Amino acid sequence: MSAKGNRLAERALQKNRWLVKQMDGMEIIFSPSLLELNEVTHAFTTRVGGSTKAPYDSFNLGRSVGDDAVKRDAIENRKKLCNTLSIDFHKLVVPGQVHSPNVALIEDLASLPDLKGVDGVTTAREQIPLLLHFADCVPVIVADPQAKAVGVFHAGWRGTAQNIVGNGVKVMARELGAKPERMRAAIGPAIGACCYPTGEDVVEALIATVADKGIAQSLIHRLADRAAPDLKAFNALQLLEAGVELVDTCDFCTACKPELFYSHRQSGGTTGRQGALVALV
Ligand SMILES: [Zn+2]
Repeated sequence: MSAKGNRLAERALQKNRWLVKQMDGMEIIFSPSLLELNEVTHAFTTRVGGSTKAPYDSFNLGRSVGDDAVKRDAIENRKKLCNTLSIDFHKLVVPGQVHSPNVALIEDLASLPDLKGVDGVTTAREQIPLLLHFADCVPVIVADPQAKAVGVFHAGWRGTAQNIVGNGVKVMARELGAKPERMRAAIGPAIGACCYPTGEDVVEALIATVADKGIAQSLIHRLADRAAPDLKAFNALQLLEAGVELVDTCDFCTACKPELFYSHRQSGGTTGRQGALVALV
C-alpha cells in the first residue's frame, strides 16, 4: 500500500474515547467533535436510565421489539430523553429502518415523505429531531454547521454494503447545499471487529463499496479462522472517500459491554434498542 493509502487506512481505523455523561439517571454518549457545534444537539443513548424490564432493560427506545408494555415504555423513554435534551418530543422523526441505502429529506413535519423504507434522514430545518435505533449496527451522525444541515444513518452490514453514508453525504450536498469538506461525521457505539466474525460473502460485499481495495483489506481482522470486518472503519472509509475530512469514531464495542449497550449478537437476538438522535437548534 502507498504512504497515502496507509494514512487513509489509519484514519479509517482510528477510534476515540467519547464522553459518557450521567443525565437524569441515563448514561448518554457524546461525540467530542459534534459537541463543539453550537448549532447541533446530539446524543447516542445506552441501555441505562429507564424502568423497562429484562431482557429489554432498561432504556429501550425501539418500538419494533417486545410486547405492548415494552412499546409503551419506549415512548416514555423517548419523552424522557427529549425532556433532558430540551427537545420537543412531538416533533421527533423516527423512520422505519429496513437495511436499505435510502435517505429521506425532511422539509416539513406537515408533509413528511414515506419513512417506512428508509435508513437515513436529513434536514436543514431547526427543531426537527431525528431518531434512529440500533443494537450492534453502526449509527452515524453527519453535520455541516455552515449549511446548517444534519443527518443520521443506520448502517448494519447490509447498509454498509450499500454505502448508505456515502449516499447520505450525496443527498445532503444535493438537497441542502452541504459540502463534504465542511462536514463532521460521528460514528457511534457499534459492534467491533473484536466480536464480529462473519462470512466471506459479507466481507466481499463490504470491500466492493470502497475505491481502494488495499485499504479495504486492512479493515478486515481475523478471529481464529474467520474474517471479522471493522464495520465502523468501513463507514469511516466510505465517509473519507466521499470527501468528509473530520470523522470521529467511538471506541465502544456494543457486544463487549452488555451492561451499557443492547447487542443483537451478544444477547442472541432478543434485546432492546439504543438511539442516535440529532437536531438543529
Ligand atoms: Zn467487542
